[in-house]
Amino acid sequence: MSELTNREAYIKQFDLFLDKKKMRKTPERFAILRRVLMFPSHFTIESLMESMEQGSFHVSRATLYNTIQLLVEAQLVRRHVFEGLQVQYEKAGATPHSHLICTSCGKVKEVRDANFIAYMNARKFTAFTTNFYSLYVYGTCSTCARRMKKRKATPNKEV
Ligand SMILES: [Zn+2]
Ligand SMILES: [Zn+2]
Repeated sequence: MSELTNREAYIKQFDLFLDKKKMRKTPERFAILRRVLMFPSHFTIESLMESMEQGSFHVSRATLYNTIQLLVEAQLVRRHVFEGLQVQYEKAGATPHSHLICTSCGKVKEVRDANFIAYMNARKFTAFTTNFYSLYVYGTCSTCARRMKKRKATPNKEV
């Protein structure tokens, strides 16, 4: 998947995928892919919908949803199901990274860990070929940790 380095590569791969599936190459499908590529990081169906509207490109929610499913199937987009959060998506060609998920506020931070990436690249599994991997780390972000500490320090007077 490392060949997904520019916009043209995504468009070409989607084109080939639609050919193979004998599906129509509608302008909507490609407009959605182009929008997806404009997101620097994660997005949700809602934020993608908003972005399409801002670009004055009107598509139905159903079309958007179906196209995202196709992009996931074509291995151009990855779906993330973080516990307790809305489904998020991101480009498949993004540089490998891990996700730190705050269980208090739901913030997701992306981190690059060279050691972990090197380890995973070298890791061979018996009777299994790795296509990609994803690491989710759940915890508390510093903002939430600070807030919790404060709350503990000042007793609740509202009782
Ligand atoms: Zn937090
Ligand atoms: Zn990510």
